[in-house]
Amino acid sequence: MHILFATSEARPLIKTGGLADVSGALPVALRAIGLDCRLLLPGYPAVLAGVKDAKPVCMLNGLPDDTVATLLEATMPDSEVPLYILDAPELFQRPGGPYQDVAGHDHPDNVLRFAVFSKAAALLASSDSPLAWRPDVLHCNDWQTGLAPAYLRLAGEKTPSIMTVHNLAYQGIFPPAELLTVGLPPESFAVEGVEYYGNLSFLKAGLYYADRLTTVSPTYAEEIRQPALGMGLQGLLTSRGDDLVGILNGIDSGEWNPTADHYLPCKFSSRALAGKKDCKLKLQQDLNLEPGRNAPLFGIIARLAQQKGLDLILAVADGILHRGGQIALLGTGEKALEAAFRDLGAQHPGRVAAVIGYDEGLSHRIEAGADIFLMPSRFEPCGLNQLYSLRYGTVPIVHATGGLQDTVEDGVTGFVFHEPTPHALWLAVDRALTTYADTKAWQRMMRAGMKRDFSWEKSAREYESLYRELLKPA
Ligand code: ADP
Repeated sequence: MHILFATSEARPLIKTGGLADVSGALPVALRAIGLDCRLLLPGYPAVLAGVKDAKPVCMLNGLPDDTVATLLEATMPDSEVPLYILDAPELFQRPGGPYQDVAGHDHPDNVLRFAVFSKAAALLASSDSPLAWRPDVLHCNDWQTGLAPAYLRLAGEKTPSIMTVHNLAYQGIFPPAELLTVGLPPESFAVEGVEYYGNLSFLKAGLYYADRLTTVSPTYAEEIRQPALGMGLQGLLTSRGDDLVGILNGIDSGEWNPTADHYLPCKFSSRALAGKKDCKLKLQQDLNLEPGRNAPLFGIIARLAQQKGLDLILAVADGILHRGGQIALLGTGEKALEAAFRDLGAQHPGRVAAVIGYDEGLSHRIEAGADIFLMPSRFEPCGLNQLYSLRYGTVPIVHATGGLQDTVEDGVTGFVFHEPTPHALWLAVDRALTTYADTKAWQRMMRAGMKRDFSWEKSAREYESLYRELLKPA
């Protein structure tokens, strides 16, 4: 079975969040169970620089705004997954990140950039594709590929498509006049189409036109049918209820493996935990925290965004420090949150380390060196850091939402609280600290989490059955 997996980021080439982890790992897992899954990525500088063997295979015509693009063929650097790169230098070769410029503002032509990317994906899945390799299913991810199912369907193409929502909060919303830019027919600008409260929504297009919808945990698949987390799309998602399924993300267990993680100063496992203590001491040293095996060290790694409930952490930070705890945060994002954590660090030298930035190695060292991981997200489609924490014996404290609820078992592998309030978080922190003081009970919890299996194979099988369902003759 041939699957084209269209995505706007994939690690290790380009990453801003969990989408990149999924896009880096799921195609590998699909190939491991016998599917021919190939990736399609935009030709950002980091992608072009990160592959060794890129060869042009064809030109792509018929893209929005008469964009001229070349399709390159390469392989992912660490996995041998075949990769197609949409090389359109005017759109993708520029400084900054995939969606924003160096100053943190959205690229002004994102509407065209991702319309072109979506159209290219649709073209490769269509009967007009210039490639000999044809996908049986086009698998789209998040708003950046949301128009692809619309292009396919409106052109009368038969290839089925899947739209996976990694986060419903990012929808790719543009003014209605952009319908011309993206080249969709005026009649598609309707409630039964790509229109979203008077604007054009890329994600809504995908959710309306794709044959099947998935999201990244069963609980989030339920939550987005409700007004609180449905972001105005709950009506559509409810009406498409039979086509919507939640498939939990896995983790890349090669990349996140405490017995072999090359970022760590010491390795450890559920049977040999000593190395974890050494990771903690080294982390304390590196982050200028007071050395001490016994001070409970709280780790946080997150995009600093409202979604992640970081205001709740700020509200309980004094309580944590008062109980002898330490805090190590790694994150970047909203300026106000960056400043608040910087201030907290400045007020409590030796007790709070706030590293504002993006650092893959440090994220591994925090997962390994911390005792407790804080993830009080207000909503969380799946969440990966709590899974990395479980694997690294770092007991997570999570809000009961989305994938956090589906992956952390209260009192067994972590601590789950139900209301997104400082008080509820504090009660969970208090329970964690009480358990932490009982070494045997704590180690039992660490080991219970480390033994949970969150490898990709199970999820890959679920995607496979979804693809097979789509290919069944009607
Ligand atoms: P989201 O996709 O909403 O950002 P996830 O928990 O699904 O959240 O995935 C986040 C991914 O990004 C994880 O792999 C996490 O380790 C990583 N990450 C987030 N912020 C940073 C950072 N500042 N430095 C390094 N890695 C980070």
